[in-house]
Amino acid sequence: MEATDTQILRTARREIVSINPATMAEIGRVPIFSSDDVNHAVNKARAAQPAWAALTFAERARYILKAKDLLLDRQDGICELISQEVGKPAVEAMTSEVLPVANLMDYFARKSAKLLRDERFTLSVFRNKKSRISFNPFGVVGIISPWNYPFSIPTGEVVMGLMAGNAVLLKPSEFTPLVGLKIGELFRAAGLPDGILQVLTGDGATGAALVDAAINKIFFTGSVRTGRKIAETAARRLMPFVLELGGKDAMIVCADAPFERTVNGALWGAFSNCGQACASVERLYVVESIAEKFINVVVEKTKMLRVGIDGKEQKDIGSLTNANQLRIVTEHVNDAVAKGARVLTGGRRIESLPGYFYEPTVLVDVNDSMRVMQEETFGPVLPIVVVKDDAEAIGEANRSKFGLLASVWTKDTNRGKQIAAQVQAGTVIINDVIYTHGAAETPWFGVKESGFGVTHSKHGLREFVQMKHINWDVLPMKTNPWWYPYSEKKRRDFKLLAKVLHKWGLKKWI
Ligand code: NAD
Repeated sequence: MEATDTQILRTARREIVSINPATMAEIGRVPIFSSDDVNHAVNKARAAQPAWAALTFAERARYILKAKDLLLDRQDGICELISQEVGKPAVEAMTSEVLPVANLMDYFARKSAKLLRDERFTLSVFRNKKSRISFNPFGVVGIISPWNYPFSIPTGEVVMGLMAGNAVLLKPSEFTPLVGLKIGELFRAAGLPDGILQVLTGDGATGAALVDAAINKIFFTGSVRTGRKIAETAARRLMPFVLELGGKDAMIVCADAPFERTVNGALWGAFSNCGQACASVERLYVVESIAEKFINVVVEKTKMLRVGIDGKEQKDIGSLTNANQLRIVTEHVNDAVAKGARVLTGGRRIESLPGYFYEPTVLVDVNDSMRVMQEETFGPVLPIVVVKDDAEAIGEANRSKFGLLASVWTKDTNRGKQIAAQVQAGTVIINDVIYTHGAAETPWFGVKESGFGVTHSKHGLREFVQMKHINWDVLPMKTNPWWYPYSEKKRRDFKLLAKVLHKWGLKKWI
């Protein structure tokens, strides 16, 4: 048996052993799909997809709504599994995984017909011409997902992909394969036809085989490093892709921030999911006029957070999900301290607990020479920087290669909007953090190295379809004026027409 991580053991039988990162107990084993297995699944999906695409939106929606009912009936068991495989408190499994998925299922089941309705229009210059744009499925799409929200991230994309009429192949993270299989089980129980959704468990090689297989589009959520590899492979084949990548999200706290809400928001933004959210608060900029009091209360409240996984008591912070995360968090904190940062609370692994538990940590005196300010930490670490004013906060927030989410905290919404407009991020939320990822109507996307393409909302749904444009004559004529034969008169007439249409306007010319 070869051990590449204490959590993932690839046995001689090519299987993944899934471990609970809070207890280190084995919770199950799944097979690793080879590239032959992946190609077989693609063929099966290809054969099944036309019949699925031929269904109406209402018919497809029935399966999604049935899966939603089953999810709501089985939510305790599903939350328990998520909690076990990720190491997160069951409350978080409920609020950030099950509830958002129920919301996405309802929304896309009910709205996709309208959001993907054909568009028809007459052309403004060519008045005798009409067009229709329809939105058709790609065919077979691949979804590769990470471990931090192993249920909500892939299931949301599966729902959009299915509603758009695609067959979907899902490759869940090797750290959370059992949750991935649970997604397939839900849809199977809802009666989804065979081959339309297949879950391909495995590691990075299985993911790479999926990107290389004869699929029509790939939807990837994960690290910048893997995203880059996927973009390279997809580019070689000219296959479209969506990349939802990492973040280093900034929280800007203005002098007039609603104090208590901002403190609570900082804590939840930095420490929920043990800081392992792509949109976790990873850099906090607070203006100097309120900094001292703000930092004191943040530290006081951080000390009150309860760490551990206890089904009955529901503690606040779970474990990190794998050994690699524990290593990165430890390295970032140690590097910051070596370069002059002060740890106001936390800063250590919790040795008394069996799993990958790390104390919620608040750092000050941090600067951009430190890894904790440059790279994604993805752990329960909140570095705080004191700035002179809003302008300095915006400048600092923008000094990052990432641009996923950011937040601005002020009682003055207009001031918040003005700051938000200047911050380089896909989404900027005023007086809140992270939560729009759980809302079906809001788009989720990154700028800079945080990604390419959109998920959720009508824009995300449209990533799962390709446009088809059909154009025709209302009043057919023998010829078009710009067709042959050419003449000097034709050149002059068109020169005049260009000015009439685009400079003077018809009225002025007449
Ligand atoms: P990762 O890149 O290591 O792995 C993600 C997935 O890619 C896994 O399923 C993995 O098996 C697969 N994979 C690995 N190598 C591959 C390859 N060569 N080809 C194809 N697939 C391959 O990321 P992770 O550690 O699972 O997830 C954490 C990262 O995900 C963080 O950077 C986080 O910010 C990001 N993330 C982003 C969003 C977002 O919406 N922007 C959401 C959640 C997580």
